[in-house]
Amino acid sequence: MEEIQQAFLAARDARLRAHAPYSHFQVGGAVLVAGDARVFVGCNVENASYGACICAERSAIMHMVSVRGVGVIEHVVVVTAVSPPSVPCALCLQVIAEFATPKTQIHLADLEGIKRTVTFGELLPEPFVLV
Ligand code: ZN
Repeated sequence: MEEIQQAFLAARDARLRAHAPYSHFQVGGAVLVAGDARVFVGCNVENASYGACICAERSAIMHMVSVRGVGVIEHVVVVTAVSPPSVPCALCLQVIAEFATPKTQIHLADLEGIKRTVTFGELLPEPFVLV
């Protein structure tokens, strides 16, 4: 559990670097990968061309892939300042699906800590797969 707490703290810190001048909704994210002690963080980065915005969860996953390559994500932490904490958007769920299993834990946190944990399979039971 200590690694999850560290991921929460890292995600909360990353949230402070979010570039959210349009929504004013700052989000921090972190992913933990099987067999890797590192925490990969991300924050939302918005753009005047709204379609170019990226969420914190996807930002963290891009960080993970850029630094170490693909891996199996065991934990995702999402930090917002709202209560109850936000869940990942549908676009992020599809990106998480690429590297997750149904048992991957999604930890939803506010600024105080993790308030709810659900499995990826609960949030997106039938992700799109290319077969
Ligand atoms: Zn998203």
